[in-house]
Amino acid sequence: MNTPERLLLHTCCAPCATTCAERLIASGCETVLFFSNSNIYPEEEYLRRLENAIRLALILNLKLEEDSYDHEAWLRHIRGFENEPEQGMRCVKCFEFNLARTAGAAALMQFPAFTTTLTVSRYKPSAKIFEAGKAFPAFVPFDFKKLNGYSRSIELSKAYNLYRQNYCGCEFSRRPGEGFAG
Ligand code: SF4
Repeated sequence: MNTPERLLLHTCCAPCATTCAERLIASGCETVLFFSNSNIYPEEEYLRRLENAIRLALILNLKLEEDSYDHEAWLRHIRGFENEPEQGMRCVKCFEFNLARTAGAAALMQFPAFTTTLTVSRYKPSAKIFEAGKAFPAFVPFDFKKLNGYSRSIELSKAYNLYRQNYCGCEFSRRPGEGFAG
């Protein structure tokens, strides 16, 4: 797969973005981070993850754009799937929501392509993310967990002293028995 010259990178959190940005920068791709995460609850947690994404953007000398935070809209989108286990349909709906927001932003900002940091996580099946991405012609299916992407993200997060959350993001991922990290 060819790396596009310019790309909007949906950024789920700073730790996951580390390794994606490192690879995209190394391939000469002009990359802008797009923080779009209405799935995160509560808002204090959203702000903490945003603050760390901004810090990473400064470290890497990248631009960061922030989407509006609308947790109510996200809840409406996943309605009916609240009780699904993590990695099930609730998460597929969640991927759809954030990718649709990013696709809209990419079109508005005239980016020819976009992708997501979500594939770094070993807890998120890349195939399900790619399936959700098929709805958007500008989506590029980078699988950032390949080549030890997840381990590299931990290494870089420690080096940059970034906050690493201990739950995925929504209120349902904080229930007893859930709790995969992002
Ligand atoms: S567990 Fe994570 S991916 Fe799944 S719905 Fe919640 S925030 Fe989204």
